[in-house]
Amino acid sequence: MTVATKPSLHNEREVQQLSHGQLATDGDGVKLTRIIGTPELNMLDPFLLLDAFESDQPEDYIGGFPSHPHRGFETVTYLFAGQMRHKDSAGNEGVIKPGGVQWMTAGKGIVHSEMPEQVDGLLMGFQLWVNLPSSAKMSEPGYQEFPAEEVALEEWASGTRVRVISGHTNKGTEGPVKNEFVNPTYLDVQLKAGDQFEQALADTDNAFLYQVAGDISVGHEGKSVGERTLAVLGAGDQVSIKAKKDSRFLLIAGQPLNEPVARGGPFVMNTKAEILQAFQDFQSNRF
Ligand code: MN
Repeated sequence: MTVATKPSLHNEREVQQLSHGQLATDGDGVKLTRIIGTPELNMLDPFLLLDAFESDQPEDYIGGFPSHPHRGFETVTYLFAGQMRHKDSAGNEGVIKPGGVQWMTAGKGIVHSEMPEQVDGLLMGFQLWVNLPSSAKMSEPGYQEFPAEEVALEEWASGTRVRVISGHTNKGTEGPVKNEFVNPTYLDVQLKAGDQFEQALADTDNAFLYQVAGDISVGHEGKSVGERTLAVLGAGDQVSIKAKKDSRFLLIAGQPLNEPVARGGPFVMNTKAEILQAFQDFQSNRF
């Protein structure tokens, strides 16, 4: 075996795969785009699912996500526009507003509802599912919820704005969400035309970006991504993103768990038997 020496200080991550996702309906008729969790991109360990919802047509979202269970992973809801009220079986309740994030650890099980609180106007946001290691799948449920003003903000003189939900930027801005299982990085970057954003990422992390708007190019290869497109990033310890015009993207990374994944609707465990157990526990009100 030979070990290549790198000419530069960093091993740049490049775009490995692009995915546009597919239209889907979930909850009570909510129209969304599923970006991770599709035949094209089934998962990107530890990320099990990414949904984007964006509509100013109430009939696309007003039904919301009425009472449903989860077990074995975490749901992360981040809103750009609109309001969602969540309520759960443990008595927790709150409203997620634009710029706010809810990082919910379902653990051994919760039953909750996620309902748009508005009757009109634009609803736009994302839900990401982050897997838990087998050792934490049956832990007590937990919440980390932060309104917009508590999400760390890094502002550059140029006008570039980086909102940090978890992890930290190269300039040291640190997000409020803590997660010791996969040490996630979750950034919302509004990059001004001509600016370059560099982010160190552990070379063991899996990473992707989702371009919301604008025109960006990634890595030494300078590959373009495209609006409403996800780019899986290849191996490396840093990613560099240039904006050709004012752009916005999410940059998300985390340590893969490298464990077997068994899915059953709202439950994600390690084995089929654990999924069957989850359905039994839910049906007999043991959540
Ligand atoms: Mn849910």
